[in-house]
Amino acid sequence: MIIAIDGPAGSGKSTIAREVAARFGFAKLDTGAMYRSVALTALQRGVSLDETDAVAELARTISITFGSEQHGNVSVFVDGVDVSDAIRTAEVDRNVSAAAANPGVRAAMLAPQRLFAQDRDVVAEGRDVGTVVFPHAELKLFLTADPRERARRRVLQRHEGQIVDPAVLETEIDETLADIERRDALDSQRDTAPLTCADDAMRIDSTSYTIDEIVQQIGELINERR
Ligand code: C5P
Repeated sequence: MIIAIDGPAGSGKSTIAREVAARFGFAKLDTGAMYRSVALTALQRGVSLDETDAVAELARTISITFGSEQHGNVSVFVDGVDVSDAIRTAEVDRNVSAAAANPGVRAAMLAPQRLFAQDRDVVAEGRDVGTVVFPHAELKLFLTADPRERARRRVLQRHEGQIVDPAVLETEIDETLADIERRDALDSQRDTAPLTCADDAMRIDSTSYTIDEIVQQIGELINERR
């Protein structure tokens, strides 16, 4: 069985996919981590994201693999090197949408994504998993949330367990909101596999529900479809 979860940055996809994977025994496929790995490798090798052929070639030749879970996140390797932290920096955030808009890069990611789901139950999250990668997924969700709420969640996640001055938090939320809105615009307006809700996806606004409520709802849908 395949569950496809799409939605913009910070809409809660990762948290929900992680919970669904843990509770219902699905393998989690984080497709965003793959585009982040391509962007990171280009930055490390000094290849400009504008050099579309060179970036696509790089995407075809690197090997992206997933390891075990650390702090709730599956670890990610590029050619055997652990890049789990390196793909989450602000620099990669700024560059990943350019890598993901490259049709050659997207073509290179398709086969490994489908292969991952060939022989197991998978919950896949990304921007095009319900529309392009797994158009026949048994269950499709499109998660949204108020942009400021999404920025707030991202900042709170970054400072988990720390005490931070509320004024500093507000400034960071403003900055993160600007980044999220820029990335949403790039991801929704690109020509190849833009971020959009599949016709047969269930749209859920995660601002109005707790994670637990959404996961429970998904659990009921899984049981109905199994
Ligand atoms: O989900 P995450 O924020 O890690 O995704 C990073 C970026 O990867 C997105 O902003 C988008 O540009 C790209 N992406 C994509 N298609 C996917 C998953 C992610 O284009 N299926």
